[in-house]
Amino acid sequence: MELAKRVKTLTPSSTLAITAKAKELRQAGHDVIGLGAGEPDFNTPTHIIEAATKAMNEGFTKYTPSGGTVELKEAIKNKMKKDQNLDYSHEEIIVTIGAKHALYTLFQVLLNPGEEVIVPAPYWVSYPEQVKLAEGTPIFVGALEENDFKLTPAQLEESITDKTKAVIINSPSNPTGVMYTKDELEALGEICLKHNILIVSDEIYEKLTYSETPHISIAEISQKLKEQTIIINGVSKSHSMTGWRIGYAIGKKEIIKAMTNLASHSTSNPTSMAQVAAEVAYNSPQDEVVVMKEAFKERLMKLYQWITNIPGITCVKPKGAFYLFPNVSEAVKLNGFDNVDDWVTALLEEEKVALVPGSGFGAPDNVRLSYAISLDQLEEAAVRIERFVKNHT
Ligand code: PLP
Repeated sequence: MELAKRVKTLTPSSTLAITAKAKELRQAGHDVIGLGAGEPDFNTPTHIIEAATKAMNEGFTKYTPSGGTVELKEAIKNKMKKDQNLDYSHEEIIVTIGAKHALYTLFQVLLNPGEEVIVPAPYWVSYPEQVKLAEGTPIFVGALEENDFKLTPAQLEESITDKTKAVIINSPSNPTGVMYTKDELEALGEICLKHNILIVSDEIYEKLTYSETPHISIAEISQKLKEQTIIINGVSKSHSMTGWRIGYAIGKKEIIKAMTNLASHSTSNPTSMAQVAAEVAYNSPQDEVVVMKEAFKERLMKLYQWITNIPGITCVKPKGAFYLFPNVSEAVKLNGFDNVDDWVTALLEEEKVALVPGSGFGAPDNVRLSYAISLDQLEEAAVRIERFVKNHT
């Protein structure tokens, strides 16, 4: 049976090959350190789990409204007011099956065939694929390492055509961990307003920031920018709830209504008890969120130091999320490899450290290291990478 054209253009996840290889080595009894994880290593806070259990025991196990329960929408509305000082109505919020599904649904309702979405590179692997699944065209714009991997207003303006529908801004970023400042967002926003381009602001790492500069949503800058922006967020990373699959999109009523209609025919609703869990995550004290953030911060400070001490490796210092995205091109050359992918494969085979090559994120000179594992393991990983580089020099 011939499959649909739309799936033929899908690129398999870049983490897949290396994860499969790491698994194979683990099964053969090797002590593999995996730095590929895209999720916090902490368990979901107990009070959240207990609230979901209670909801289930009380029979909250049935369909809910497609766009999410009134209670969870209210919790999200209050969170937006408290954290961003932004006012939204329930009609401007849709709860989805994780933030990934919010993005997927958004592109489905937004794009006609051939319409373009500007995707600054390095990018999260799912953006281009989701745009393609909606028959849109991802337009990659290489954000330069010299500019801390941030899209400049000039780059944005140059990449706009009469087919441009939206631009994605992901701050803090996966994979680079960099964050845009208020001024930078304002400058990008002005261009989006001038050309009437929707801003898709993926703020899933909002709570994981480690510098003096707090996270700012582009929607906070002005009423006009608020109206031009769809915010994507969720509890996966902030509350260590990746498996619960609760995310959301917030923005213009017409867009949210179309997304809700689509969800009503595709997923019906996000899982009922997971919605209770997310509601409690937002409505209860945020102590665990702060504890997790502090642990990530300590790991970042140490890992950054260890990794940048290795000859041939440089790294833009991340300000958020839980990834380092070092440039290893010098080390790769020094070690006599043709490309980063081969270097990553050899590192896994010889030293049993699994990294994700940057090629899948649109940055072939880099690798992504996740620090969502213990400090001891991170230290051991750094020792092994250093030994690998020295052994090959
Ligand atoms: N956006 C970015 C940048 C991510 O890194 C991820 C998860 O890795 C998501 C969205 C999706 O989050 P969720 O697990 O809530 O679907």
